[in-house]
Amino acid sequence: MRITVAGTGYVGLVSGACLASTGNNVIGYDIDKGKIERLNAGECPIFEPGLAELLAGNAQSGRLQFTADIDEALTSPEIVFVAIGTPPRPDGSADLSQIFAFAEQLADHVTGPTILATKSTVPVGTGDRLERIVRGRTKVPIHVVSNPEFLKEGSAVNDFLKPDRVVVGAEDEEAAQVLRELHLPFVRNNRPILVMSRRASEMTKYAANACLATRISFINEIANLCDATGVDVEEVRRGMGTDQRIGFQFLYPGCGYGGSCFPKDVQALAHVAREAGINPILLDAVHNVNKAQKNVLYAKIRRRFNDALHDLTFAFWGVTFKPATDDLREAPALILIDQLLQDGATVRAHDPAGLENLKALYGDRVSCHAEPYEALSGADALVVCTEWNEFRSPEFARMKETLRQPIIFDGRNLYDLGAMKRHGLEYHPIGRPTTNWKA
Ligand code: NAD
Repeated sequence: MRITVAGTGYVGLVSGACLASTGNNVIGYDIDKGKIERLNAGECPIFEPGLAELLAGNAQSGRLQFTADIDEALTSPEIVFVAIGTPPRPDGSADLSQIFAFAEQLADHVTGPTILATKSTVPVGTGDRLERIVRGRTKVPIHVVSNPEFLKEGSAVNDFLKPDRVVVGAEDEEAAQVLRELHLPFVRNNRPILVMSRRASEMTKYAANACLATRISFINEIANLCDATGVDVEEVRRGMGTDQRIGFQFLYPGCGYGGSCFPKDVQALAHVAREAGINPILLDAVHNVNKAQKNVLYAKIRRRFNDALHDLTFAFWGVTFKPATDDLREAPALILIDQLLQDGATVRAHDPAGLENLKALYGDRVSCHAEPYEALSGADALVVCTEWNEFRSPEFARMKETLRQPIIFDGRNLYDLGAMKRHGLEYHPIGRPTTNWKA
């Protein structure tokens, strides 16, 4: 099929590359000319496992092209996917202006029947609004379909190629059938393609993200309760997660969720609820717990150093919002770095993929180190904010030797309490007893 993907960010680029890999002819379109230039020069502008290889393979086959020229992008597509950002407005609602602007351009360009499929996360009723926009500008049949994306950064390519399910929300049976056929190569392991109403599909994506965020905020609240009552949350987590009705996924306490999805999607859904006259008590609580959780490590650090952080140096391992990505959007590490800098502390950072983006944000205010132990040199404490695999089994003796003070604040509960004691490291995890605590 001839496919155009509007937006070549985390979702658009992965979707375009995966769709090209099954034989479709794909054009990736973006208003960011710099990004398109880099893509056309064979560069992968984001870090996502397996993506660079997929892009290179598809570029060779000629099935995946990139353009910043709207005429070229919309010459004769059968399906146009929208993977444009939907950032939060100050009131928490999703900013759909870029999507609507693109829909107008689409209506002005296409000359034959076209399916407009939204991969972007959009509030219920957005498909109806898109339909009104395109129908107001053209007589060419454009079928608006919702096809929310469930990929996770860090395993996006694999998630797209082997989804748990594909959701298609369509009011037109033929359009639904086209989307179904397009996705068949990705569900050969018998995962379902769920066809539903467009509005239900839009709601499903928000409900799924809000549910996952709720689990995280729930276990974080329990972790704080454990901290206050001298209970080890790890024991509680095991006791809960082994219940098959509960399970372990998204039940890991930490320093809060970040990223470009959970924070904004929970708020956008709460906004939809308010507009519909419903008080989103739970969604607001999920959001507020998470906001507070991003301060928990800071509070522990202040308490440990008696509120005197100036002249201290903190080494960060991990600054991205999750492992296996270079994405810093809403990352808990950024809030902590801001707080420490404001208190006059020095920050040194190591991250396997996020340093370039960190430099772009902080310039010289944070020193960046490609080598993890180099970041520890002269630091009064290590702060772990992202659970990258390579941080799980470090050389503890070398850590102790390199740090000025052998103290670890762990926002991801990576280390074993016994190992911390054995290596003489003072350890401050979340919801677990502090080891070697000299209050
Ligand atoms: P992103 O910021 O990485 O990419 C968005 C891209 O859209 C950018 O390259 C931007 O230049 C481009 N763009 C903006 N306006 C445009 C226009 N008018 N025409 C063409 N391109 C335009 O965003 P993302 O993380 O890929 O997310 C995109 C959407 O997918 C959002 O709605 C997000 O909520 C949703 N989503 C994201 C993820 C994820 O893990 N990142 C997962 C599922 C769904």
